[in-house]
Amino acid sequence: MKISIDPGSCSGHARCAAAAPALFRLDDDGYALPYDGEVPDGQEETARDGERACPERAITVG
Ligand code: SF4
Repeated sequence: MKISIDPGSCSGHARCAAAAPALFRLDDDGYALPYDGEVPDGQEETARDGERACPERAITVG
């Protein structure tokens, strides 16, 4: 499972990091940073929590 973040849609709400701090990191302005690699086993639902938390639908998990 991977996490994709559309930088053109991200508006820096930081809700992804609030919902799933282990998976989503923010830059100094509060915009989500790209996620490299695979979501660790057992954290798939956490990744989806972050996806659902984004009001801009900038996150795709799959
Ligand atoms: S919740 Fe969405 S808009 Fe906000 S920082 Fe995360 S990816 Fe960007």
